[in-house]
Amino acid sequence: MRKKVNILALPPEQLVVLLSGLGHPAYRAEQILVWLYQKGARSFADMTNLPNSLREQLSEFAEIGFLELVRRLVSRDGTEKYLFALADNQTVETVVLPYNIGYSACISTQVGCKMGCMFCASGLPGFSRNLSAAEILAQVLQAKQEVSAQGRELKSLVLMGSGEPLDNFTAIVAFLEAVQDPRRLGMSLRHLTLSTSGLVPKIRELAALKLPLTLAVSLHAPNNSLRDKIMPINRKYPLEELLAACDEYTKLTGRRLTYEYTLIEGLNDGVKEARELAALLKKRLCHLNLIPFNAVPELELSPSAQTVVQAFTAILRSSGVKVTVRRRLGADIAAACGQLSNKMSGDC
Ligand code: SAH
Ligand code: SF4
Repeated sequence: MRKKVNILALPPEQLVVLLSGLGHPAYRAEQILVWLYQKGARSFADMTNLPNSLREQLSEFAEIGFLELVRRLVSRDGTEKYLFALADNQTVETVVLPYNIGYSACISTQVGCKMGCMFCASGLPGFSRNLSAAEILAQVLQAKQEVSAQGRELKSLVLMGSGEPLDNFTAIVAFLEAVQDPRRLGMSLRHLTLSTSGLVPKIRELAALKLPLTLAVSLHAPNNSLRDKIMPINRKYPLEELLAACDEYTKLTGRRLTYEYTLIEGLNDGVKEARELAALLKKRLCHLNLIPFNAVPELELSPSAQTVVQAFTAILRSSGVKVTVRRRLGADIAAACGQLSNKMSGDC
């Protein structure tokens, strides 16, 4: 049997081509896009202003590549985590986080991850494969539908689920086009944050696109010897090269960068590291997000004590660095930073 075309993988122009091949006018594409992206249609049969003949043809030749929701967990703090099955039976997790300003969806970009950071659950099972742009988009659409069903609005997106987005660059760029396309998700990229472990050439490629998204860079260590140990990617792209690429990113896009730093007890949370980090960041146009380490059962690492977090924060602030300590949402269902996996973890 011929493989069906996934409508979510088609930019609007290609949808028009598909429809014209089936003998239908271009305006039908606009109607289909409204059904998909505004009205949350789950099937072609739901698209009631399309002629029956077209709905039947679409069902025969095309599919809407929604992901199968295998399991949903709801945290005490309102965070929701979804385990989605992909067409090849692999699975990924997506999280919806409730913030005062609206809901945010944390999206996965790969099944597993190659980067092997020593504190993260996503890389533990190893790398399976990249997600396609359509699979990344489907996570957003389905998260949006879940949020709308509760009468809320999805306001922002973070590419901080499992995987390294810049290691899946082509799909991410296609996905970003769908996000900002007014006929598809129609969300400003100002409401999207892409987090990377620091793939220098790809940061430079992204900078050249001059997109208005927020780039978040995972630092987690203020010197090469420590960063080499906890993030193997640093052996390929050491801190000097990473920070130079980040500076170029700011210069080309005019956007303030976010640096992320997960505080792990006894590893990177001392006064020495705080001072080194302050020296790196104080002259840069940036924001520092301190992330309390979230437990990963397979790893013998612990979060820094509250007093240590406060002391670390104070050193950075007194050097003039803008610092936020990230709230820990969804930890009871293993939906917090670094806890996502390609199998459902956590219980509720
Ligand atoms: N691969 C990208 C994006 C996904 S990870 C990246 O590394 O940036 C999203 C963020 O969660 C990163 O800053 C990552 O370092 C952090 N993180 C990973 N494991 C964590 C853990 N166990 N506790 C807290 N933060 C963690
Ligand atoms: Fe991959 Fe990011 Fe986890 Fe590192 S922190 S293993 S890059 S998902």
